[in-house]
Amino acid sequence: MKTLALIVPCFNEADVLGMFYTETTRVLDSIKDEYSAELVFVDDGSRDDTLKIVKELAATDSHVKFISFSRNFGKEAAMLAGMEYAVKADYIGILDADLQHSPDLIPKMLHYVDKEGYDVAAANREDREGESKFKSFLSDSFYKVINKVSETKITESAQDFRIMKRAVVKSIISMPENIRFSKGIFSWVGFNVKWIGHTNRERAAGETKWSITKLAKYAVDGILGFTTTPLRFSFIFAFLCAVTAGVSFIYAVIRNIIEPAYSGTVPFLLTGMFIIAFLLLLCIGILGEYLARVYTEAKDRPKYIISQSNTQVVYSLSDDE
Ligand code: UDP
Ligand code: MG
Repeated sequence: MKTLALIVPCFNEADVLGMFYTETTRVLDSIKDEYSAELVFVDDGSRDDTLKIVKELAATDSHVKFISFSRNFGKEAAMLAGMEYAVKADYIGILDADLQHSPDLIPKMLHYVDKEGYDVAAANREDREGESKFKSFLSDSFYKVINKVSETKITESAQDFRIMKRAVVKSIISMPENIRFSKGIFSWVGFNVKWIGHTNRERAAGETKWSITKLAKYAVDGILGFTTTPLRFSFIFAFLCAVTAGVSFIYAVIRNIIEPAYSGTVPFLLTGMFIIAFLLLLCIGILGEYLARVYTEAKDRPKYIISQSNTQVVYSLSDDE
């Protein structure tokens, strides 16, 4: 019997977990002759009854596992903890708790990884149901920028909703970075991906956990995590400064030759100084951003801390296939 582990990151999802469990187990029941499935709930420091509900489910269903964080570490950390636990399964899936990722797609995804030789079957969002125009615009702009500056191409509509073979998950969890941007990591590790069109449903209950500030941070993490191009901006600015300095010098010399009594250079000097100060500050800011990241990585803090769990997170890179 092949094993499947489905990771479900949950942050304050008490309103929807019951529905999620009913719908997902119905799908898993339909494939139980071929796959023995586990549901791995990762409670990302929820402040509502999420953990209580998950524990109740675990008490009645031995296929339910849970990992609960000591505080909110973010969806990236939740997915990582889930993968570090679930890597022992043959197939590892990730789906949101809010039923926006339709569990009905699971058998189809399994078919591609198990029968068609793909390493990953991932959902590709076909429309923007339930997303504001403003959010769509920001998201479009973000993917345009990241795909311009980064060597790792990131499919705009690619979702975290996916089923992967163990080898893929092993390589994902072997990436040591602390500031994790899964969309980039999924794409960076490569492998043979089958994209499956998927229309996001409306959230079944509760509300989105992504504020504009959380999304902005996510976008910056994504760009700085997957490219060093911004570091090169300093060279471009340095070049522009040199050109400007050259032109103003020539201007001053010529003007002084033609017009010996001329003494109106002060405004130009001031403008020049401000331009230089602005550029220097900008470059220092960019360096600072990277320095902050080096600092964070160098500290090498745990990516999450589990306060309680009914299972053990065991992970070793040297584990056999
Ligand atoms: N999530 C999480 N930690 C967070 C934010 C979200 O584990 O800090 C989970 C959340 O419970 C859900 C999934 O990540 O299962 C996607 O979140 P959400 O539905 O709020 O995002 P959206 O669909 O609005 O992009
Ligand atoms: Mg959602």
